[in-house]
Amino acid sequence: MDPIDQARQEPATIVLAPGDGIGPEIMDATMCILDAARVPLKTESVVLGQAAYEAGEPSGVPERAWELLRAHPTLLKGPMTTPQGGGYKSVNVTLRKSLGLFANVRQCKAYSPFVSSNHPGMNLVIIRENEEDLYAGIEHQQTDEVVQCLKLVTRPGCESIIRYAFEYARAYGRRRVTCMTKDNIMKMTDGLFHRIFEEVSAEYGDIEAHHEIIDIGAARVAAQPERYEVIVTLNLYGDILSDIAAQVAGSIGLAGSTNVGRHAAMFEAVHGSAPDIAGKGVANPSGLIVAATQMLVHLGLSSHATKIKNAWLRTLEDGIHTADIYREGLSRIHADTETFTRAVIERLGVLPERLEPVRYTGTGFLLPEWRAEPPGPRRLAGVDVFLAWSEADRDPDELGRRLGPLADAAFDLRVITNRGVKVFPEGLSETLRTDHWRCRFMGCRATDYGDVLKLLDRIHQAGLEVIKTENLYELADAEPGYSMAQGQ
Ligand code: NAD
Repeated sequence: MDPIDQARQEPATIVLAPGDGIGPEIMDATMCILDAARVPLKTESVVLGQAAYEAGEPSGVPERAWELLRAHPTLLKGPMTTPQGGGYKSVNVTLRKSLGLFANVRQCKAYSPFVSSNHPGMNLVIIRENEEDLYAGIEHQQTDEVVQCLKLVTRPGCESIIRYAFEYARAYGRRRVTCMTKDNIMKMTDGLFHRIFEEVSAEYGDIEAHHEIIDIGAARVAAQPERYEVIVTLNLYGDILSDIAAQVAGSIGLAGSTNVGRHAAMFEAVHGSAPDIAGKGVANPSGLIVAATQMLVHLGLSSHATKIKNAWLRTLEDGIHTADIYREGLSRIHADTETFTRAVIERLGVLPERLEPVRYTGTGFLLPEWRAEPPGPRRLAGVDVFLAWSEADRDPDELGRRLGPLADAAFDLRVITNRGVKVFPEGLSETLRTDHWRCRFMGCRATDYGDVLKLLDRIHQAGLEVIKTENLYELADAEPGYSMAQGQ
């Protein structure tokens, strides 16, 4: 046993949620293997999902589950059926948001030739920010023609996920972390992510750090996934990229997924509850077994994780395959869940011969609390006023003529844009004009928010409809805290 495991005094307690459909079968299989490997764990079981909904709990997470998770914040979770029809919240989303699970980790690995893949050497991990970006869920219908979704990217969010990626690389013996963003276009949001990646990577001299633009990065993941070890990225890109990578690896049915926060972590298979085969005893427990090994590394039980994962690899290699991965000529034994589980147990302590054995050495980790820095200098320099306007054939010069005098002595009407493109002064007649106008007023003198309110009042009194405003700040060294308009 490795010294880290030996040093553990008390066995950790984890919360088990077997889930719906095949969940209980694959959870039993997984726990049999953990027991046989003598993993020092205590367990507490909870009912989440379908049975909880049916018992009248609309969130699918009963109060007892929250109490247990507060006391023992490591959850091994079977798949949950999402009920059809409205009124029910997804258990996964509820757990992720309530427990602050900011990191989603998905390993995409080929087990070729035992599971067919076009990229036999592929073994990458995607670490996706889980809470922010366009998934913050802040959307508005602003005008008849325009809806918006706010892309929120925060320093705490970026620092957490990027630091997690480097800590993960260390814990799992990975040597390279690649950051993917679109900061050539989104210079502020994706730019912040990239900048913090540069800052944090400087603290991890033992790990190579690279940045790629997400579009070429995604194309390379599809074509040459062997190039990558760990990829860290924002929520939306990570969502898309993890499906591309899982598909390319060819082993989505064998994949585990981890959701980690500062206080809690949740481990599960990537697949769903497979109602079509539930209760038949034929489900492949591999996804949950792999997730459980990730949980053991997280808990600092690396030698147990290593032993179980190697036994599982050897089982695949020996051709003992459940129906979902069984292939004539490649597989040897058509196994049901129990046969597969027994085969893994029989191989505990045995290494694979053709697949590369794993050797986890990490100690497991939760990130420390994020500490806010004292606020930096910030000066109100102007305001973007967004209007709904479709009068006068949507002539931007007419809008400029009406707004110019309203700027008064405090402001200067600098530019009007439509969908981010300059239309006043001197726009191009070819530019499409929707009913949604961004009018940028820069302060002519020291501006305070009272000046903005007076400006808005004048615009309102002139019969124009303000739909929202954004303050324009200058930061340290007069750096603008806002993007320039296209053509400005
Ligand atoms: P699914 O992954 O459950 O099933 C897709 C196909 O793969 C089915 O043919 C199924 O039999 C097969 N399959 C899945 N897991 C298998 C396993 N371990 N062994 C052998 N075959 C397996 O996807 P679905 O049918 O789209 O979803 C079913 C339910 O699961 C839905 O209610 C969905 O919302 C839910 N779901 C839950 C999670 C989760 O809890 N994390 C994830 C995905 C889907």
